[in-house]
Amino acid sequence: MQRGWRDAKSVLALLVFPAGISYKSGMTELSPTAPPDADILVLGAGPAGMLCALMAARKAKAAGIRRDIVLVDQDRTMARKLRASGGGRCNCTNLHAAPGNYLSKDPRFTAQALKRFPPAQFLALLKELGLSAHEEDQGKMFCDQGAQALAEALEKACRKAGCRFLPGRAVTGLVPPAEPGGLFRVDTEHGALFAPRVALALGSPAWPALGGTDVVARLAGMLGLPHIPARPALTPLLLSGPDLDLCRELSGLSVEARLSLAGGGPECGSASVTDSLLFTHQGLSGPAALRLSSRWRRGEEIVIDLAPGTDLPALLRRPDKGKALARTIVAGLLPRRLAEARLAGLPPGLADRRVAELSRAELDALARCLNHWRVTPKATAGMARAEAASGGLDTAAFSARTMQCKAIPGLFALGEALDVAGDLGGFNLHWAWASGFAAGQAI
Ligand SMILES: Cc1cc2nc3c(=O)[nH]c(=O)nc-3n(C[C@H](O)[C@H](O)[C@H](O)COP(=O)(O)OP(=O)(O)OC[C@H]3O[C@@H](n4cnc5c(N)ncnc54)[C@H](O)[C@@H]3O)c2cc1C
Repeated sequence: MQRGWRDAKSVLALLVFPAGISYKSGMTELSPTAPPDADILVLGAGPAGMLCALMAARKAKAAGIRRDIVLVDQDRTMARKLRASGGGRCNCTNLHAAPGNYLSKDPRFTAQALKRFPPAQFLALLKELGLSAHEEDQGKMFCDQGAQALAEALEKACRKAGCRFLPGRAVTGLVPPAEPGGLFRVDTEHGALFAPRVALALGSPAWPALGGTDVVARLAGMLGLPHIPARPALTPLLLSGPDLDLCRELSGLSVEARLSLAGGGPECGSASVTDSLLFTHQGLSGPAALRLSSRWRRGEEIVIDLAPGTDLPALLRRPDKGKALARTIVAGLLPRRLAEARLAGLPPGLADRRVAELSRAELDALARCLNHWRVTPKATAGMARAEAASGGLDTAAFSARTMQCKAIPGLFALGEALDVAGDLGGFNLHWAWASGFAAGQAI
């Protein structure tokens, strides 16, 4: 096998810490400066990379084959996003995971992987790792022991299966083999690594403070692979002017609301969501705003229904409501602070008149202040606070069954590195598991 790049410093490091011997644990960790060769290099030790490595190691062991699997990561702490997921509570999967929960140029791409690794299979793996999960609303499963415990259990399982970790090595380049069956060259900040098979699990640029980088776009350029520009997803919506003033007044308040894109939204995914909406000092957040942000385009209006499921025109026309003041009806539907804030936008005096006395136009205005509040965000909070990113490696270049690149055999891509972005609710982590499993079986 072709040997990796080696300079005087790394030779010295090898003398002090021979490859495969950790200076930390004395067990299976490589020296950050030693240039290992491996059978499989998994680039990125996030949830997708670790699941892929674990599955590949177990499959090889079951077949009686010895395979050297090395996970390379820029960080010293593996899977930082996983550790922070769900605010540390880790919404690790969703019982209803299906292609419709994902934004992608080709939403059907996820179907095979989701079918082969359904949520029940992930929950079985969790149990095997000594962990458990419970269901909250809408099929969301949370790890009972928390996000840190899951990240640590996965890392431990990988090590136990014989995988090695190479932390503190930022990947900077990738060169495919010159001829079939040759070696990939992975350039890192500390020299090159060589292997016949490479799994690209480097995530997306979302939330850079937790390790998100744009390296996948750069590697795609080097490899000549189609890449869809990354956009922030699941990120708060920033408002300005009077709408922002109102959000600031209501900061900390959370209500159930239906948010819709006035323009109808892009081709895939729903253009409206009903979920919990949180007012903040910057605008709108909470699940409803985060979920709609993935589909929102700059300049587009959002229509907010603060009384979803209530047919307001019908309610206002009910004979038994005729004697009620408009203010009383609104106060019965919304928290007091929000009711007062919305009523302040009505023509003077309207809120204090009886509903039966209102003209059709005034009734319409009253209904609209509740179910048709139109706002135009000035921007999203961007990648800095995006829980995911849409875009990534174009799935058309990869097999939906194995995640292998059609044009470059031996190269696999998984997780958020691909153009697949899940909805809020455990769908992103489930994609990491399902695509990691598919690649781990095939690599
Ligand atoms: C704050 C937050 C909360 C979230 N909560 C949830 C949740 O509750 N449920 C859910 O389903 N999803 C959640 N997500 C999304 C989920 O964490 C991601 O979709 C998932 O981690 C993607 O997995 P991945 O393995 O593809 O990528 P990542 O987890 O991003 O892993 C990629 C790995 O590659 C490494 N890397 C990046 N660039 C380089 C480089 N140049 N060289 C070497 N290594 C590199 C990174 O250090 C990282 O370890 C959350 C995300 C965030 C940011």
